[in-house]
Amino acid sequence: MVTLADYPKIAAGKVRELYAVDDEHLLLVASDRISAFDHVLTTPIPDKGRVLTAMSVFWFEWLARTAGVDHHMVAADDGRIPADVRGRALLVRRLTMLQVEAVARGYLAGSAFSDYQRAGSVCGVPLPDGLTQSARLPEPIFTPASKAPIGEHDENIDFAAVQGKLGERDAERVREATLRIYSTAAEHAERRGMILADTKFEFGLDAEHNLVLGDEVLTPDSSRYWPADGYAPGKPQPAFDKQYVRDWLTSPASGWDRASDTPPPPLPDDVIRATRDRYVQAYELITGLSMDDWIR
Ligand code: ATP
Ligand code: MG
Repeated sequence: MVTLADYPKIAAGKVRELYAVDDEHLLLVASDRISAFDHVLTTPIPDKGRVLTAMSVFWFEWLARTAGVDHHMVAADDGRIPADVRGRALLVRRLTMLQVEAVARGYLAGSAFSDYQRAGSVCGVPLPDGLTQSARLPEPIFTPASKAPIGEHDENIDFAAVQGKLGERDAERVREATLRIYSTAAEHAERRGMILADTKFEFGLDAEHNLVLGDEVLTPDSSRYWPADGYAPGKPQPAFDKQYVRDWLTSPASGWDRASDTPPPPLPDDVIRATRDRYVQAYELITGLSMDDWIR
């Protein structure tokens, strides 16, 4: 039986780790770590890694089936996946990743709203005057970002910069795929009562230079999901997944000063439980499946 120690670790992000399985395959392992306000919290959220993995699997399969999307997933349940990470690990094809964060937005939130307020445009895409925070955009837009080194923020870039990094042909392919996948996923989410405000994809190239969807997809860590019920532009919307965490951290109860450089305190049990339930709820809402049926 394989164990995780059999595989060399090749990268560790804030919440996930990447292992080499063989020349053609990698293992993407999702932890239960959660980040908020740019800090990785010391308190894990039980089952978060499993839920996000299950969600990625649902979307990869759904996108392949309904939209013919080529993705990197090989298996979530396979003899090459060690027992200690089963359910929160994905066996994937090794790709040459494109050094661009492929972001699509259908709503004006986060850094896009700040950029719009300052410049009236986002990543060089002009937007109409008078849009409010969280407003629905006239049509989804491609707002790429550069992949920043660990600890640094990704920076929004314009399409010309993507062309400079990838060449014109691959830049166009990435933009087209990003908008197409976002739109079809957003329609599905909407049918399930959720707004997919924006999302980030990472693409890679296989040996034949095919564009392949990699990384995790359409999880709450890579996407902004809002409950459609109660959506009200003109203000920030509650984050479906991290709402309780953010609310508690910014409340007097936490005793934490966001502006200071002290790390946030551990989360109390009720916030942990409510947040865990939120992740499970998001998965079940979007997929129509039960987390009880996911790989044990
Ligand atoms: P963070 O997301 O925490 O800011 P990060 O992006 O460096 O940091 P992760 O997202 O945890 O780290 O790590 C996933 C890494 O694996 C990314 O660098 C991503 O580009 C890479 N990756 C994903 N899928 C593949 C693949 N099929 N082949 C090669 N690399 C991949
Ligand atoms: Mg990442």
